[in-house]
Amino acid sequence: QTTQTTPTTATAPTSASVPVAPLPAATPVGYPRIGPDRELKKAEEAYWAGRIDRAEFAARTRDLRRATRERLAALGLDAAAAAPESFSLYDQVLDAALAVGIVPDRFASVVGADGTVDDDGLFALARGTAEQPPLEMTKWFDTNYHYLVPEIGPDTDLHLASHRAIDLFRESLEDGAGTRPVLVGPLTLLLLAKAQDGAPAGFDPLDRLDDVVGVYAELLARLAEAGAPWVQLDEPALAADQRLAPSALADLLQRSVGRLAAAAERPRLLVTTPYGGIGDLLPALLATGAEAVHLDLTRGELPTTAQLAGVDTVQLVAGLVEGRSVWRSELPTAAARLAELRRRVTEAGGEAGEIVVSTSVSLQHVPHTLERESSLPAELTATLAFADEKIAEIVTLADGSVEPGAADGPRSVPRTFEGVRVDSVRERAAAVTAADAEREEYAVRAEAQRRALGLPDLPTTTIGSFPQVGEVRAARAAHRRGTLDDTGYVQAMKDEIARVIALQEDLGLDVLVHGEPERNDMVQYFAENLEGFATTEHGWVQSYGSRCTRPSILFGDVHRPAPITVDWATYAQSLTPRPVKGMLTGPVTILAWSFVRDDQPLGDTAAQVGLALRDEVTDLEAAGIRIVQVDEPALRELLPLRESDHADYLDWSVRSFRLATSGVEAATQIHTHLCYSEFNVVVGAIDALDADVTSIESARSRGEILEALEPGAFPRGIGPGVWDIHSPRVPGAEEIAEQLRSARAVVDAGRLWVNPDCGLKTRGYAETEASLRHLVQATREVRAEA
Ligand code: GLN
Ligand code: ZN
Repeated sequence: QTTQTTPTTATAPTSASVPVAPLPAATPVGYPRIGPDRELKKAEEAYWAGRIDRAEFAARTRDLRRATRERLAALGLDAAAAAPESFSLYDQVLDAALAVGIVPDRFASVVGADGTVDDDGLFALARGTAEQPPLEMTKWFDTNYHYLVPEIGPDTDLHLASHRAIDLFRESLEDGAGTRPVLVGPLTLLLLAKAQDGAPAGFDPLDRLDDVVGVYAELLARLAEAGAPWVQLDEPALAADQRLAPSALADLLQRSVGRLAAAAERPRLLVTTPYGGIGDLLPALLATGAEAVHLDLTRGELPTTAQLAGVDTVQLVAGLVEGRSVWRSELPTAAARLAELRRRVTEAGGEAGEIVVSTSVSLQHVPHTLERESSLPAELTATLAFADEKIAEIVTLADGSVEPGAADGPRSVPRTFEGVRVDSVRERAAAVTAADAEREEYAVRAEAQRRALGLPDLPTTTIGSFPQVGEVRAARAAHRRGTLDDTGYVQAMKDEIARVIALQEDLGLDVLVHGEPERNDMVQYFAENLEGFATTEHGWVQSYGSRCTRPSILFGDVHRPAPITVDWATYAQSLTPRPVKGMLTGPVTILAWSFVRDDQPLGDTAAQVGLALRDEVTDLEAAGIRIVQVDEPALRELLPLRESDHADYLDWSVRSFRLATSGVEAATQIHTHLCYSEFNVVVGAIDALDADVTSIESARSRGEILEALEPGAFPRGIGPGVWDIHSPRVPGAEEIAEQLRSARAVVDAGRLWVNPDCGLKTRGYAETEASLRHLVQATREVRAEA
């Protein structure tokens, strides 16, 4: 990445003076950036650990981008602007924030003398430094991707602070016809931003819209000067319910995209609206002057002829292929919907022939390619499409060779092979009654648990996993490969469990965990042990930065053939008199972090998973485990973007959790854990889960949770995380004690739990031990003050 400044005064060819081709007939909204072998992750981790230098790091990411561009060209996206430039070192929201200079004051030192932020500065914002916690991280719409929340104030010095987009475009010309630069649009950027600490009350990031748009205009001029014929602005905020009324959004669109489109020196603009329909905002978007507009036509409806008023000057980009699922599209259905869209566009006075076929959202949410999978059942493979296969679908749809079927046909290829329907599973789900999802009253449970567990005030615990050291990973890998037999594997895991139990006793924690050494991933582990799932070999997707997950594919009816965690938990419990928490992943999270069947309502699938987990919870209880935690970190994530869909979602998600957890006695304590839960958004749902104790992320969203936790708002046990485990930073005991004191002001000590804000799997032992010592020390101090 070069970061030298180019002169601001250079004159660029105007879009009017250079003949620009329309967008090609097929193009996706975005493409995975991690590389088919997770090249990005590997390069970053090597660079951060000092194993490779800056030049080697730059060379590796350069190679990745070249390979990606070649691949996209080979897939048919070989025309200028046909391939979206999807590369990002860490996060596209951070890229956009840096492009316009949204750097919070607390990170002023990362801005160089020339006003730009280099790669190390970018990583400092993303990962934190010894002095500063990183930017807050939160879910990108209703996906499992996380973005960094920009922090802006009234005096933030907005200016072009990164030339990455320009550099990437120039580089893409070396590799071929040139990609289409992609930027998170100004409106979405500010709607996702928050006021930096110390900003005056009443300051709203949107107050800076005009300034931000000014910098975007400069960036667009530079991109035009570099020769980019098209630039894509992603405005997914238009598809999500916002605090703003549609009419206010329409005005802001005019003030942002409209103003950018009015500039003389700029590339043509494609505005995308992934993650849902935009309904009646379409006419306003068509009126902005952008040359192309993308619509998510998988979640959104086909626009009506009336909504298409103004389409005569705009090229429509039809997101007909679901970009976030792994299911192969039923192409005849998509072709029929495309034909109907053409008819309506013609009726509205537009050019039906110019319609571009696209994906609903960026393909960043699906793995690179199915080609490398060799162990999936053939019948299943025949119904799947990853990123490359989805690009083939849009190219095929665009070439007009698909005979249209029925427009209301199935959106994906129907799946009919064995395991898709299991009668016994369906019969059990049909027989469930309301009582199956009810426990005794909380007061009764709390008393029974107090007697059974005898815990001190401010009980300390962790979220479940302990650092996954090299030997543990190696043992798991060797077992998978068959070079370590079952006995050797079980012994290796037991050794690790014994080590982790001894460590927790030494640290003085009150409620212990077995450490989850046997789990590669909290969802995949259960997917591998339940029927109805398939696991990929290379199906990695980016979660955030260098973090990738390999979601399982939930294709069939789910059931539990045998106990899963009971042996590990009881072994751990046999080593200590202190209570050991059993550790399970909840139904909503299993759904959220898998690729889920789309041939039945999500609620039906969730209930099947809930019932399978119920068997596990009651087996743990029967084996003497007195506390069981059922993690639901994804409860917030699956919340539909439109408020009108919330009630239905909360109904089935809460019910599936309660099905899983309501089979136990009053004295058995049920915990749940949520990460990045914007607590206030789901506080009603958390309450409805009826867990005895809820631990939540909070270290990184500073205090917001405590605000939501006004006295009496939350009647049961709660553990607001006091250590941000997403950063390598070790919190001091005094800092933790301060957090506990503010928490104790709103939660009484009997219900307040002390814990990190997530599992420790990705941390090292050095910072884990140090941080947990501080945590226990701080708890003792605050207990003594009571
Ligand atoms: N029990 C899990 C762990 O500790 C929870 C992880 C999560 O919330 N993402 O790893
Ligand atoms: Zn968590």
